[in-house]
Amino acid sequence: ALCQQARFTLSAAKVNQCPEDRGWEIAFAGRSNAGKSSALNTLTHAQLARTSKTPGRTQLLNFFRLDDERRLVDLPGYGYAKVPIPLKQHWQQHLEAYLVQRHSLKGIFLMMDVRHPLTPFDQMMLEWAQSTQMPIHILLTKADKLAFGAAKTTLLKVQQQIASLEADISVQLFSAPKRQGIEEAYEVMSRWLEL
Ligand code: GDP
Repeated sequence: ALCQQARFTLSAAKVNQCPEDRGWEIAFAGRSNAGKSSALNTLTHAQLARTSKTPGRTQLLNFFRLDDERRLVDLPGYGYAKVPIPLKQHWQQHLEAYLVQRHSLKGIFLMMDVRHPLTPFDQMMLEWAQSTQMPIHILLTKADKLAFGAAKTTLLKVQQQIASLEADISVQLFSAPKRQGIEEAYEVMSRWLEL
């Protein structure tokens, strides 16, 4: 799959440092520790997301090229306690600018720990998606940490919640170590990237 050929292109601290805004782009978002890096690495077969882990070294947006027209973007994990407030405000401002302005952004993969889904920030992202008609695909990560029945129950609960929003939001279970949910995720990525 094309997604496996992802390779790091650049980090951008501001929207005007992003690659040219053409083609198709999927952004990966989630609360810190939700499993965003692990999901990205599992889906791309590469240690792509390490760079985005250390605050200070961290830039706002890390771009990974799939081909001339297609990219994956690693957004900063939100709720990262060690990030100083001014940096958080800086991020929020530029992140919003990216989300609102970026034409090539076709959808967002939102990682949520299956044991703690729908945090206030997750809810905010979903409401924003609803208001802007931006598609969101939720990965309920670390599905291996729950028994099958419990994971399935959470999946159904989240499905019910998003069904009440009039938005293009979908959800699935995912586990990086078990490599669970990869095909389902690829199906969504291929559709959004028009592969
Ligand atoms: P990020 O901060 O969202 O990028 O989260 P990471 O991908 O770094 O994951 C945070 C922690 O959760 C790490 O210790 C990972 O090894 C662990 N983790 C991530 N995904 C999974 C998963 O699917 N299953 C299990 N058991 N642990 C996971």
